[in-house]
Amino acid sequence: MSGETLRISEIFGPTIQGEGALIGMATVFVRTGGCDFRCSWCDTLHAVDSAYRDTWTPMSADAVMDEVRRLSGGAPLMVTVSGGNPAIQPLGRLIELGKREGYRFALETQGSLSRDWFAGFDVLSLSPKPPSSGMAFDRKALADAVAAAGPNTAIALKFVVFDEADYGFAREVARAYPHLPVYLQPGNHTPPPADQEDAVIDIPGIMARLRWLIDRAANDRWFEASILPQLHTLIWGNLRGV
Ligand code: SF4
Repeated sequence: MSGETLRISEIFGPTIQGEGALIGMATVFVRTGGCDFRCSWCDTLHAVDSAYRDTWTPMSADAVMDEVRRLSGGAPLMVTVSGGNPAIQPLGRLIELGKREGYRFALETQGSLSRDWFAGFDVLSLSPKPPSSGMAFDRKALADAVAAAGPNTAIALKFVVFDEADYGFAREVARAYPHLPVYLQPGNHTPPPADQEDAVIDIPGIMARLRWLIDRAANDRWFEASILPQLHTLIWGNLRGV
């Protein structure tokens, strides 16, 4: 083992990216354990709550790449690093190792922390958390995260929207970054069950919010925003490992 240890909640795939700029794209997910936030509607508590800490595995970057390689059959596809907040982990070596073999990397983070290794990612998906999350927004931290991207890093902003306050938040934050693509997605209120096996998702509620969101942005003439549901939630609910 070389380099620092990563705290890994799960590695799974290949599956598809279910949201945002890469929706539908084949990917292997690396989900890290631990988060500096506690969003009221978090749907990945198993990678956030310290009650699940025993399920997180300390792994070297080399061991993570071994698993990614095994799952992908060596095909250098997109590796999506998500959490939790992966920005609390030392991910530089993982990216370095994977890129040597042609893998591409996408990072999913809320923009509360920035790291110099953000510049090694091909895609940086920043999802500032709206008022319904119960979390405070740090404008400066988001600006730092955007600035940490490299010249070859594509950045996208992604907002979960439950209500008018969330929509207003997304609109205001996005205005500061007119050069960045924006993705809006209706929130999913359903918390994952403890065993994660039989999640019942409020599909009608999600669809109602999606229709509202489409109308809201259209009425606002916010045509630059792309509006998408979470595809994986519609297909698999909150089931883990897909
Ligand atoms: S930032 Fe993401 S992973 Fe962390 S608590 Fe919020 S929704 Fe969950």
